[in-house]
Amino acid sequence: MPLRVFVLAVWLGAIAAPSTPQDRSASDDMSEKRERMIAEQIVDRGVRNPRVLDALRHVERHLFVSDEVRQFAYDDTPLMIGHGQTISQPYIVGLMTEMLDPQPHDRVLEIGTGSGYQAAVLARLVAKVYTIEIVEELGWLAEERLERLGYDNVHVRVGDGYLGWPEEGPFDKIIVTAAPPEVPQALVDQLADPGRMVLPVGSAFQQLILIEKKDGKTTRTTASAVRFVPMVHGEDEETTH
Ligand code: SAH
Repeated sequence: MPLRVFVLAVWLGAIAAPSTPQDRSASDDMSEKRERMIAEQIVDRGVRNPRVLDALRHVERHLFVSDEVRQFAYDDTPLMIGHGQTISQPYIVGLMTEMLDPQPHDRVLEIGTGSGYQAAVLARLVAKVYTIEIVEELGWLAEERLERLGYDNVHVRVGDGYLGWPEEGPFDKIIVTAAPPEVPQALVDQLADPGRMVLPVGSAFQQLILIEKKDGKTTRTTASAVRFVPMVHGEDEETTH
């Protein structure tokens, strides 16, 4: 084959060739995994709120975990985030977020910032998120990560979530992502009326509980059995930043 024809054939081959998996960017790969996570783990199990699903579609969960576990970021499992703590299984994040019934004007308190993933999901759905983490290093890392990713409506405090954040309360919604043995009264007190709180309660055996405050009355509904890290008690001193 004359050289010119050969070059043309190779060039045509190159433009006609379908893209191979190696050509695809890592970010396409992650968004495909994220779509599959939403369909198979979250929608199939009954989470249907379109705003919640949209938020889960936009938050890049793989950016909230370390390199060692990044490849498992969209798997149906909690993942280690250091200090013996975990980022919750995606379905649990979807379920708890939906139970909270997030509205665009809401101010939300989260106890247990961890990686900052749940806070980022909420940040896309509500006006402001206040989140408290007891492990100093996790709090600082999450704050830095959320800032870097542009979540400027999230405020992180290092401190003991049992006390809530009285200076910023009352909150329209409260979400607790570590399990206390009983419902902390300070959090019920900082819940607005009307308001909703979602939290796992119990020690060895835990239940996901929805607390609703309306017209001065507080009601409790028990949802499913869950498994969370325990909510621990801290020292008295706190750092706000
Ligand atoms: N919401 C997190 C996962 C939370 S894991 C995420 O999206 O990644 C539970 C977190 O609660 C841990 O980081 C743990 O350190 C924190 N925690 C435990 N007891 C606490 C307390 N009393 N106050 C604030 N945070 C607490």
